[in-house]
Amino acid sequence: MADTSKVTDMFIQTLAQIVGKKNVITKREDMLSYCGDESPTSTPHYPDVVVKPANTEEVSRVLVLANAEKIPVTPRGAGTGISGGAVPIHGGIVLSLEHMNHIKEIDGDNFVVVAEPGVRLMDLCQAVEAQGLYYPLYPGEKGAFIGGNVATNAGGMRAVRYGVTRNFVLGLEVVLATGQVVRTGGKYVKCSTGYDLTQLLVGSEGTLAVITEVILKLSTPPGLRELLWVPFTSLRQAIKTVPEILKLGVPVIGLEFLEKDIIDMIEGYIERKIPFSEYPAFLLVILEGNSSDEVYDSANKIAGVCTGNGAVDVYIPTGEHSKRELLEAREKMFPAIRRYDPIEVVDVVVPRSRIADFVSRVKEIAIRYKIPITAPGHAGDGNVHLHLMGRGVAAQEWKDNVPKMMDEIYSAGVAMGGTISGEHGLGYEKKKYLPIAMDDQRIDLMRNLKKVFDPNLILNLGKIFDVE
Ligand SMILES: Cc1cc2nc3c(=O)[nH]c(=O)nc-3n(C[C@H](O)[C@H](O)[C@H](O)COP(=O)(O)OP(=O)(O)OC[C@H]3O[C@@H](n4cnc5c(N)ncnc54)[C@H](O)[C@@H]3O)c2cc1C
Repeated sequence: MADTSKVTDMFIQTLAQIVGKKNVITKREDMLSYCGDESPTSTPHYPDVVVKPANTEEVSRVLVLANAEKIPVTPRGAGTGISGGAVPIHGGIVLSLEHMNHIKEIDGDNFVVVAEPGVRLMDLCQAVEAQGLYYPLYPGEKGAFIGGNVATNAGGMRAVRYGVTRNFVLGLEVVLATGQVVRTGGKYVKCSTGYDLTQLLVGSEGTLAVITEVILKLSTPPGLRELLWVPFTSLRQAIKTVPEILKLGVPVIGLEFLEKDIIDMIEGYIERKIPFSEYPAFLLVILEGNSSDEVYDSANKIAGVCTGNGAVDVYIPTGEHSKRELLEAREKMFPAIRRYDPIEVVDVVVPRSRIADFVSRVKEIAIRYKIPITAPGHAGDGNVHLHLMGRGVAAQEWKDNVPKMMDEIYSAGVAMGGTISGEHGLGYEKKKYLPIAMDDQRIDLMRNLKKVFDPNLILNLGKIFDVE
């Protein structure tokens, strides 16, 4: 088991010899931005030391040292996670990948990009687009690092058409806790050669290895993109329209649902009006197509289905500026909601056909416990983002009721055939709910895998599940 008491001056000096003195932080006042993440409920924890390696060899040497002394290591990307995954709950070393931020290669013939883990998602997207290629995923926080996206298997708004990060990861270079460098996969799209270690590492939240290089699949850029903003008189009506839209077979890349309570919060945050904001529920449909005729035809079909299901109107913003404004309003949802602290975030995923039932159940729980819950979500892929809103709720009531509500919410999601996290991961904030989704046998199997990858249990211990 890892032990922080061995972080001595001598140990820190040895770290400095590996990564250079300027890449080692030991002063508490300089460490604050490495203590937490964007989870509204995670409490900051100070590490003993932050190190910023510049390459795989330095990562390996740091891990050899930490492993020999059994000192905990928390890999860290941009710290935009929402489950406390990058929080150094056991102290020790925060291994920040921020200096490993180079795009090594954009290979247009094979449609791949090879990148270090500290490349920001937005920089990767811009770089490949400049070469006429496209990385289609869109997890809402573009400042996240690509290594963090892989470690959490990030999803986002475009999952309806493109899937999630794991669908784009062709290969990895990782460093195990022992310092051993391992390569998985490669620049090829098919593989039936042994176990798929790449996919085991995707979504492992830094508990199995440190990702030092990522090979991602690319595609060609979409021709045109169109948005439809559709107000409804009830959420149930809006959600029940979703399967019908998907059955049209038109190239929908994103399909989101929102309610008026959230729209009010977003309007307050961005200080401008959102069209039709007086209505109770909305669908945001994002379409792609190769020609204006194709997109126009798809938009018309969707508008027909929506009005057939009771939509009040179908607003199609014209011009890039108004499209951008609408998308930006959606992107500001999380910061807008966070202002209503305290909040608790849930990202249950259920089969798409059960979204309406799940949201109804959640609303019933909210009424029973008298704690409001906002329920926006990626309607197209069944991922419902709930926010339990604590403003105005007595502290004791919040403390007593929220754990019970969370249990009920997760149990309802699992009973409907879903699971407890669609894209945020479990980190340490949500790990206590894992037994709701998995039996002991499966959790033990994961614990045993962890011990194979990390025998001394130094890598991100206490995340996803506890292990002795
Ligand atoms: C406003 C906002 C919107 C968001 N929208 C979405 C969304 O739509 N979809 C979505 O999926 N997420 C979303 N997120 C969550 C977050 O952006 C993602 O989880 C992202 O993938 C985290 O990347 P990061 O670099 O910030 O990782 P961090 O938060 O630094 O780390 C996350 C986890 O990955 C591990 N890790 C990081 N880098 C490595 C590495 N190189 N090797 C091994 N382990 C590593 C950490 O130990 C930790 O467990 C959003 C967050 C915010 C703040």
